[in-house]
Amino acid sequence: MGTLHVVATPIGNLEDITLRAVRVLREADRILAEDTRHTGKLLKHLQVTTPMTSLHGHNEKGRLDRVLEWLDEGQTLALVSDAGTPAISDPGQVVVTAAREAGHRVSPVPGACAFVAAASAAGLPTDRLHFVGFLPGRPGRRRKVFEQVLPAGGTTAVYVSPHRMVKDLGIAIEVAGTDRRGCLCRELTKVYEEFDVGTLGALHARWSKKTPKGEMVLLIGPAD
Ligand code: SAM
Repeated sequence: MGTLHVVATPIGNLEDITLRAVRVLREADRILAEDTRHTGKLLKHLQVTTPMTSLHGHNEKGRLDRVLEWLDEGQTLALVSDAGTPAISDPGQVVVTAAREAGHRVSPVPGACAFVAAASAAGLPTDRLHFVGFLPGRPGRRRKVFEQVLPAGGTTAVYVSPHRMVKDLGIAIEVAGTDRRGCLCRELTKVYEEFDVGTLGALHARWSKKTPKGEMVLLIGPAD
C-alpha cells in the first residue's frame, strides 16, 4: 500500500511550514502540486528537489488512475496546493477520497489554513465556527447560504474576493442586520496583515470608500 500525505504549505509567510512538512516533501517519491511553478518556488526556498506532477481542479479526475497506480506500487506521495491546506477550498478532495477508498494510508501534515488563522486572532467567539469557504456565484445563492448559516449561532468564516467583498457584506447585512459584529481579515501572515473588527454596518461603510485588495477572510460573529 502507498501513502498519501496531505501537506499544508504557507498562506503568505514562508516561515509558516512545519519541520515535518519539509521532511515529508523531501522524502516523498513525488509531490502532487496544484501549480508546479508556484510550488517550485517554495521547494527551491526549502532546498527540496523531489519531482512534481501537477494536480489541479481541472485534471484531478483525469490523473486519478495514474495517482492510484503510484500508490499501488507503494509510492509515498505528498499532496500540496498553492497555499494553506489542500482540499480546503482547494483541489485534493477527489484524490484523497479515492486513495482512502482504495485502502491506502492517507495522512495529514497540518499547518496553515486561512480561516483557522483568521478565527484564531480576530477576537470573535470560536466555540462554534461555520466554515462556508467560497460563496456560490449567483447573488441569490450567496444570500441563501447566509440565510442558512447566519441564524445558526457561532461565527461564520467566508473566503471573499476583493471585488465582491463589499457586495457580500451588503448581503450579510440584509440577512443578519447592521449591528452584527464581524471582522475582515486581510493578507494574513504577510506585510500588510490587517484585522478590521466592527459591526457589519461599520465595515460596509468603511470598505465602500476603499478599493479592497489582497486575500481576505470575512468572519461574521454570532447574534448577541
Ligand atoms: N486551502 C487554503 C486554506 O487552507 O485556507 C484556501 C485556498 S483558497 C483557493 C484561497 C482563499 O483563501 C483566498 O481567496 C482567501 O479568501 C483565503 N486566503 C488565503 N490566504 C490568505 C491570507 N494570507 N489572508 C487572508 N485570506 C487568505
